[in-house]
Amino acid sequence: MSHTHPNAIRKIVIVGGGSAGWITAAMLSHYFQAGGCRIELVESEEIGTIGVGESTIPPFLRLLASLGIDEREFIQATQASFKLGIRFEDWRRVGDRYMHPFGVIGGPFGPHEFYQCWLRAKAAGHPSGLHDFAPGAVMAEQGKFMLPFKAERTLIGGANYALHVDARLVARFLRDYAEARGVKRTEGIVSDVITHADGSVAKVRMKDGREIEGDFFIDCTGFRGLLIGKTLETPFDDWSDMLLCDRAVVVQTENVGAPHPYTLSKAEAGGWRWRIPLQHRAGNGYVFCSRFVSDDEARATLLGQLEGRALMEPMFIPFKTGVRQRLWEKNVVAVGLSGGFIEPLESTALHLIYRGVDFLLRFFPDRDFDPALREEYNRRMVADYEEIRDFIVLHYCKTQRDDTPFWRAVRAAPIPESLKERMALFEASGVLREGVDDMFRNPSWQSVMEGMGVRPQRYQPLVDTIPYDVISQTLDQSAPMLAAQVAGLPSHGEFLAKHCPAP
Ligand code: FAD
Repeated sequence: MSHTHPNAIRKIVIVGGGSAGWITAAMLSHYFQAGGCRIELVESEEIGTIGVGESTIPPFLRLLASLGIDEREFIQATQASFKLGIRFEDWRRVGDRYMHPFGVIGGPFGPHEFYQCWLRAKAAGHPSGLHDFAPGAVMAEQGKFMLPFKAERTLIGGANYALHVDARLVARFLRDYAEARGVKRTEGIVSDVITHADGSVAKVRMKDGREIEGDFFIDCTGFRGLLIGKTLETPFDDWSDMLLCDRAVVVQTENVGAPHPYTLSKAEAGGWRWRIPLQHRAGNGYVFCSRFVSDDEARATLLGQLEGRALMEPMFIPFKTGVRQRLWEKNVVAVGLSGGFIEPLESTALHLIYRGVDFLLRFFPDRDFDPALREEYNRRMVADYEEIRDFIVLHYCKTQRDDTPFWRAVRAAPIPESLKERMALFEASGVLREGVDDMFRNPSWQSVMEGMGVRPQRYQPLVDTIPYDVISQTLDQSAPMLAAQVAGLPSHGEFLAKHCPAP
C-alpha cells in the first residue's frame, strides 16, 4: 500500500545541469530516494555551464554533511582546498588590507561580546587590531591550516572554514550522487515550454521533439531563465544602480607555490580581481564595470597580474545584478543564476542554491500549490538576496578611493535604506540587527565594518561593569598565545598533502 498522499507531487523536472541543477538534484534525490516522486534533469552539453563558482562559505560543508557525503572524499574528488576567509586588498584605500575570517573573533568576557570589550580597549588606546584575536585570520595570514574541531582546547578551535572547489568537478560529483539515487538525466536542448490554461508549466519540448511532463519544475537554466523569465515573465528587480559591476573576465592558471588558505579579493581601477587556489590549479577573475573599463583593458589587467601560466583563453561573462521579484511562480521555482545574481565578492551564489532548495523542502507543496507556501518562500528567499546585497554594498560604500572614475561613481551610488539603518545602529554603539537566521553573523559584519573604517562612536555602556585591567590583560595575553599556537600548525599545503591528497 502506498503511503503517498493522493495529491502529492509525482514528478519533478529540473531544467539545467550546472551547479544549481546538480545541487538541486542531489538534495531532492536524498529526500525522495525511498520513492514517491520521480526526478528528471534535462541539460545540454552543447549549451554548457558557466563553470565558475569556486569559492564557498562554511554552510557548504553542512550541505555535504546533510547529504551524507564524506568531506575528505569530496575534497579529493573536487581537488578542493581549504578557505579560512577572504583577504581584501586596496578596498578602503590603495595599500590597505583586511581579512574577513570565518568563525569567532576573540572569546566572550562572561556575558559580554568580545567586540565590545575590544572597542573599550581601543577607546583607552590599546594597540591591538581586531583580527589579532580571530583564529581564522591569524591562520590565513600565516598560511597554516588545521581542522578547528580537532583543536578544540586551543584558541584555534573557534575558527571555521569553507572550501575552494572546482565547479565542474563538483557538478560531476553531485551528478553521480543524484543518479545513484534515481535521478534520470536527459541530454538535449529544450526549445519550447508548454503551459496549461492557468499559465503553469505542463511540459518542456526538446529540439528533437521529445516532451517531458512534470508536476513541478525547477528552473536551473542559468542566466537564460528559460521558465521563470522567458515563459512566466516574472519581473526582475535590477540592483545595478547600487552595485555597478556588470561583467567578468575569468582565466584558470597553474598554481605557483602552495595554495593559500583564503580567497584573495583585490580592488582594481574598475572593479576587483579574485584569486582562488585549488589543489591542481588556480581560478582568477576580474569583475568590472563596462561603463568604465573596456574588455581589452580588463583582459590586460587580469593577465598582467597572473601568478602562473594561463591554462585557457580568458572568457568574458556578462551579468545583471538583481533578483526575481518572485523566485517561486506558479509551479516553477528558480534556483541559481536564473533567480538572480549578486557579484561573487562574498562567494554566496552556491550558498543561495543550497538555501533555495533547503527552504523549498521546508515549504514543499502538493499539487494544490497552496499560495501561502509560495508567498513565505518568496519572502524568505528575497530577504536573503537583500541581506547579501547590503553586505556587498558595505564593501564599497565606505571606500575613500577616488582615484578612478569607477571609484568616484561607487561613492555616488545609492545605498539601500536597510543598509543605512544597519550602519546607523552599528555606529551608535557597535550593535547589529537581530534576526533569527541572518546569513552573516556578527563577526562578518564587524570584520568588514572595521576593514572599511566604520567604527562605532562608543562601546556599549554595559561593558563598563568589567574592570579595564581584566580586559587589557586578557587582550595582552591572548593575541600572542593565538599567534604561537598557529605557528605550530602545519602549513595549508602540508595539511592537504597529508590528509586529502589528490587521488
Ligand atoms: P549554469 O552554470 O549557466 O547552468 C545552466 C544549465 O542550464 C546548463 O546545464 C545548461 O546546459 C542548461 N540549459 C540552459 N538552457 C538550456 C536549454 N534550453 N535546454 C537544456 N539545457 C539548458 N558562486 C559562488 O558560490 N562562489 C564563487 O566564487 C562564484 N564566482 C562566480 C564568478 C562569476 C564571474 C560568476 C558569473 C558567477 C560566480 N558564482 C560564484 C556563481 C556560480 O557560478 C553560479 O551560481 C553557479 O555556477 C550556478 O550556475 P547555474 O547552474 O545557475 O547556471
